[in-house]
Amino acid sequence: MIDPGHNGGNAADPAAINKLVWAGTFYKPCDTTGTATNGGYPEYAFTMDVALRVASILRAQGAKVVLTRSSSAGVGPCINVRAAIGNEAHADAAISIHADGGPSTGYGFHVIAPGNVGINSAIVKPSYRLALDVRSGYASGTGEHTATYVATNGLTVRTDLGGLNLSTVPKVFIECANMRNAADAARVTSAAFRQRAAVGIAAGITAFLRGH
Ligand code: ZN
Repeated sequence: MIDPGHNGGNAADPAAINKLVWAGTFYKPCDTTGTATNGGYPEYAFTMDVALRVASILRAQGAKVVLTRSSSAGVGPCINVRAAIGNEAHADAAISIHADGGPSTGYGFHVIAPGNVGINSAIVKPSYRLALDVRSGYASGTGEHTATYVATNGLTVRTDLGGLNLSTVPKVFIECANMRNAADAARVTSAAFRQRAAVGIAAGITAFLRGH
């Protein structure tokens, strides 16, 4: 299951995306608008493009791929629905693709694994293995540095993300780059980089699935 973060219609529909939904341990807005480069390339377009590339690579290898959205024309889905899509598919692995809006001086990527919030305890260990595989695949595929401004060696564990708290299948988030950093912005706006990002993410997922 591949989840391209945010959506193109989110900014125009604050009532829908600010609606509170259950995030597993607390209520949180349905979704957010996401970030953008200073030049105006939006995160939702980046995540959709990379997700479609990952889907194409994995399908060519024989995988069954489910996406949470297939274009940037809509609103949401809400974070709880994004998690439910992976759960209902009984996905062997799930990933939410994002790009960060960090401090402009920071750059690099990081992977987020779920912390144990009780209801997701069964997926904490396999998700951590998935996180390690995706970190490794993405680093080799892109040459992108691990984040200089957040996480440790490109990896962090969080308990505040509904998409991880509510998952019943192994799941991670990847923040592919820092869109507010000039060097990373140049990368994410390059189709060649997005292809390398997709190859790297697909390699990480494949390594995880082979390890089963
Ligand atoms: Zn995001």
